[in-house]
Amino acid sequence: MSHNAESTAFRSALEVIRAVEPRVADAIGAELVDQRESLKLIASENYASPATLLAMGNWFSDKYAEGTVGRRFYAGCQNVDTVEALAAEHARELFGAAHAYVQPHSGIDANLVAFWAILADRVESPALKKAQKRHVNDLTEADWFALRRELGDQRMLGMSLDAGGHLTHGFRPNISGKMFDQRSYGTDPATGLIDYDRVAEAAREFRPLILVAGYSAYPRKVNFRIMREIADSVGATFMVDMAHFAGLVAGKVFTGDFDPVPHAHIVTTTTHKSLRGPRGGMVLCGPELADQVDRGCPMVLGGPLPHVMAAKAVALAEARRPDFADYASRIVDNAHALADGLLRRGASLVTGGTDNHLVLIDVSGYGLTGRQAEQALLDSGIVTNRNAVPQDPNGAWYTSGIRIGTPALTTRGLGAAEMDATAELIHTVLDRTTAGTGPDGAPSKAKYVLDPAVAESVGKQAADLLTPFPLYPEVTLG
Ligand code: PLP
Repeated sequence: MSHNAESTAFRSALEVIRAVEPRVADAIGAELVDQRESLKLIASENYASPATLLAMGNWFSDKYAEGTVGRRFYAGCQNVDTVEALAAEHARELFGAAHAYVQPHSGIDANLVAFWAILADRVESPALKKAQKRHVNDLTEADWFALRRELGDQRMLGMSLDAGGHLTHGFRPNISGKMFDQRSYGTDPATGLIDYDRVAEAAREFRPLILVAGYSAYPRKVNFRIMREIADSVGATFMVDMAHFAGLVAGKVFTGDFDPVPHAHIVTTTTHKSLRGPRGGMVLCGPELADQVDRGCPMVLGGPLPHVMAAKAVALAEARRPDFADYASRIVDNAHALADGLLRRGASLVTGGTDNHLVLIDVSGYGLTGRQAEQALLDSGIVTNRNAVPQDPNGAWYTSGIRIGTPALTTRGLGAAEMDATAELIHTVLDRTTAGTGPDGAPSKAKYVLDPAVAESVGKQAADLLTPFPLYPEVTLG
């Protein structure tokens, strides 16, 4: 029996791996089965194309290539130069940016590169100049003291975590919270929307060096023109972390005031969420910050991952095709359909709806915490994640919200009718789940009660919903 190229490639790869460590080959095969069978609504995940996946599994992984295109600290980087230059070119063309740095290994790394580039650009510091020539691990205690002394407590203003901001925007669990004196802007308690007047007021009072926009759990568009005006009014550098919605920018769903690239001094992103590429990060900027950004390695990054840069080049080439714009607009149409379906069934949504790829359900209306809801949905074959809602009384661990997103299911081809059916399944589970009690009979924020027959029936319906939309239909392994 003959196979298509994708099936042959993945089958052969597994055969080679199986000969060395069969358990790894089995786990890779099992992961495909699990992904095929789950109704994946995690807003930050997607399914990269076979071409993108295959671009990562090769000998580019063996190459060290510190430095930048044409200026490496290692010999023999001509082919790495080719893929890094291609990825950067596709990124510049796709997003209309003057400069693209495609080395960051992740979104967190991209943000760190951006922060240090801004510090180097804005703060006169000999210690920082010295640090930029080395990897952070090679800095001595004295270097760090000098850095702290010279950089002082630089200020960053970013979106609060419970309003949907990200840890890397100056919060304690991340190094950014230790590098900067941080203050947050939240959302209007009545509408759940960003109140730009309040952001302007906070900026006037706090006078940040960096104003950060971007989010992980805000279901609306952000007006980047207004945010840039606010940054300019206080002399702040305006940075946008578009990790979540880069695919919507690439697909020209977010244009004009809602496209961050023409408005921000610097833009960071991941490449694996709505952009549908390999796991990784990227920084876009104008010529003013380009030199500083290119110092990301060795300042904060280990050696570049050439195999991932190759995959970024492939995925970005895919995102430049006309059908990606169609994909991006279907992501948003699907999110609307999902939100409408939930609202019609009585769910409460943060901001009352969505205009991007994600929906945040406030599950307190069902008498549940996010933790209980997340687990009950998982028992029913629906993969989501719990998330804080603004002013969440249950904090960041238990939470009161469930975040759902449409990039992954849209990649599989599900449309508005399936989103409505998904809303029905989610509502059924949440409606039929009740909060449980701990061993002492006291109310628990983690325990819940869901009739296993309901979970089983919903799980079966979720599986049926996916049947007409096979994941990686071009790949057969067995
Ligand atoms: N920035 C935002 C807005 C994110 O949502 C995330 C990931 O969830 C990141 C940065 C970090 O990305 P990574 O996990 O690739 O480091």
